[in-house]
Amino acid sequence: MSRIVEFEKAREPLPHSLPEIEPGIVNLPRMVDELPPEAKARFRRIFHVSQAVGHLDPPESMHPWIKGYFGSVDVVVAQRIVKITNMVTMEGALFNELRARRPMEARSPSDLVTEARTKTGDPFCHPESGTPEDIFGRVQGRYCITASNIAKYDGFHGLVIFREHDPLAFNEEQVVDYVTTARAWADEVMLQDPQSRYFFFMWNCLWKAAASIIHGHAQVTMTRDMHYARIEGWRRAALAYRRAHNSNYFDDLYAAHADLGLGFEANGVRVLAYLTPAKEREVFLIAPDLTDELKRALYHALACYRDRMGVLSFNVALYLPPLAPVPEDWSGFPAIFRLVDRGDPVNRTGDIGAMELYASNVIGTDPFYVIEQMRQAFRAG
Ligand SMILES: [Zn+2]
Repeated sequence: MSRIVEFEKAREPLPHSLPEIEPGIVNLPRMVDELPPEAKARFRRIFHVSQAVGHLDPPESMHPWIKGYFGSVDVVVAQRIVKITNMVTMEGALFNELRARRPMEARSPSDLVTEARTKTGDPFCHPESGTPEDIFGRVQGRYCITASNIAKYDGFHGLVIFREHDPLAFNEEQVVDYVTTARAWADEVMLQDPQSRYFFFMWNCLWKAAASIIHGHAQVTMTRDMHYARIEGWRRAALAYRRAHNSNYFDDLYAAHADLGLGFEANGVRVLAYLTPAKEREVFLIAPDLTDELKRALYHALACYRDRMGVLSFNVALYLPPLAPVPEDWSGFPAIFRLVDRGDPVNRTGDIGAMELYASNVIGTDPFYVIEQMRQAFRAG
């Protein structure tokens, strides 16, 4: 099934020199302490970091298994936990040293996944006859076509159906086209209903990410009166932050990550491995607007997931300010892609439990490892 291939560790040196501290999530409190005063203050305006150590006493009979799985008994006996809270948005994450250092499980392509990826003949393979169209018809992209979702989340809820069946077979040109077509769909909606001004783009890949149909597709919605709750929550949080600190929240959020080596800029796009992620390997891609560079960055980040980190199932979301003027203040709110790994499709255990739904996100991947993979992928272009 799965086997140990390597330990997840970050190796990139920090932009400023912290020679004796190895970059890693369990060293975060010390790394923050070592930041220059201004950077430290900025980090602490956004994040609260707390540490704990969990102790246990395993019987001798368990030692061989523990050594085989975690490398040593010592790391299990006393486990460091880092709790991070975003004080602006009230998102939270718990990182366990042991989970963060847990060997990466190689996701060898299972028969189940391979079969799903190659078994064509579903309705999305012939969308013109297999799916309904919107009241304005369909938007044609070069590599995709839109459809109307049959059971809607909102007044306008469409699909961007990829011409390629295999949800993991995507290249740069295709990803750019998918997002461009999605955005063109939103323009068609606004001609029908000028009150629908809040656009949302999402891409669920494979069943672990809640895709009910395997065939590659993204989804689009347009909503009225107010953006979706999470996005409106961020707008309000960013506004309160600006009022309190006279500074743009998203600029400071990026800087707080970049100061620690958790963010970099490539072609006008800010890439960061988020410290309070929704789930594993969450990455933000931030640009002033939905530029072609941002769409290309989405491809590079997803290709990094697929080709470097073995991710098979993922979610993507696009946060954008409304597409037409609205009463509330969206100034300074950028375009942001959020993407997250949803785990091995053949693992029947869900990745989200009561902790994630009701308390705080429990994360097993070190953001320092994630950003290093992204840095290499973007460098390779
Ligand atoms: Zn298909």
